[in-house]
Amino acid sequence: MNVSEVFTRFSSQESCIQYLEGLRWQNEPECPYCKSKQSSQRKDTQRHQCNNCNSSYSVLVGTIFEDTKLPLFKWFLAISLMLNAKKGLSALQLGRDIGVNRKTAWYLQMRIRKAMQGGDDNELFKGIVEIDETYIGGAQRNHSRQKRQERRESGLNFTGMQHKQAVIGLLERAGRIKLEVLEKAHGKTIKPIIGQTVSKEASLVTDGFGGYSGLGKTYKEHQVLNKEKEEYVRGEYHTNTLEGFWTLLKRGIYGQYHKVSIRHLQSYLNEFTFKYNHRANKSNFDLLLNRSLMPTVL
Ligand SMILES: [Zn+2]
Repeated sequence: MNVSEVFTRFSSQESCIQYLEGLRWQNEPECPYCKSKQSSQRKDTQRHQCNNCNSSYSVLVGTIFEDTKLPLFKWFLAISLMLNAKKGLSALQLGRDIGVNRKTAWYLQMRIRKAMQGGDDNELFKGIVEIDETYIGGAQRNHSRQKRQERRESGLNFTGMQHKQAVIGLLERAGRIKLEVLEKAHGKTIKPIIGQTVSKEASLVTDGFGGYSGLGKTYKEHQVLNKEKEEYVRGEYHTNTLEGFWTLLKRGIYGQYHKVSIRHLQSYLNEFTFKYNHRANKSNFDLLLNRSLMPTVL
């Protein structure tokens, strides 16, 4: 849903609440405390009174919108703007766009990213899966020659973070990605993530980094490209899709989020992951609203 549709459909708080009630309860309110569906609407409010446990509740209880003082319309706008910003959206810019201060905009973004993180399908990656690690932020001197070269070529110069942070990426050619911040990139940290994400029937493609060694014993196939000797492609096996994604990710992070701290890096990765995995989904707005309503999200 684009911004102009949000304006048309959600001009009032009431219309937002109604929409959320439709998504969460299919318009049949359920008490979040005792799960009873027997309730009565409280006069002139968007709250319901449970006939069983006598609590009063709204559709926002237990969601990322709970206790918000902002009109839901602004949340909906923020969600739409974030989903449509391919390279990311700074809190400063979002604040300008929806008329709140930067701190409020940042808080909104953090909550929305929380919703982006939850509930992804648990189906394991199949087919060809590209795996690669990269480094975000920090001084360059500890980077491999190849990574320094990549960075020079992409024209990136990022100083917001004092330490570089390793990130592992797994990309299923069929269209899904998984990104995770690593304490340190080595086999012990990488292999459990591959184990949770990738089917044993998959064909893995990596470079010769030692952290990947031995994967051929567990998975159907492990193609190791010898990048040191400039072997970047072997037939259909390469990691170019993932490397293209790294470029986009870094442009987004370095361009929009000047001060990404390591503490929040995973949250930014969740945003890029959600957008990538649902880029072809026309109802990604509804999907994200649904996630926002999931009581487990906070
Ligand atoms: Zn109840």
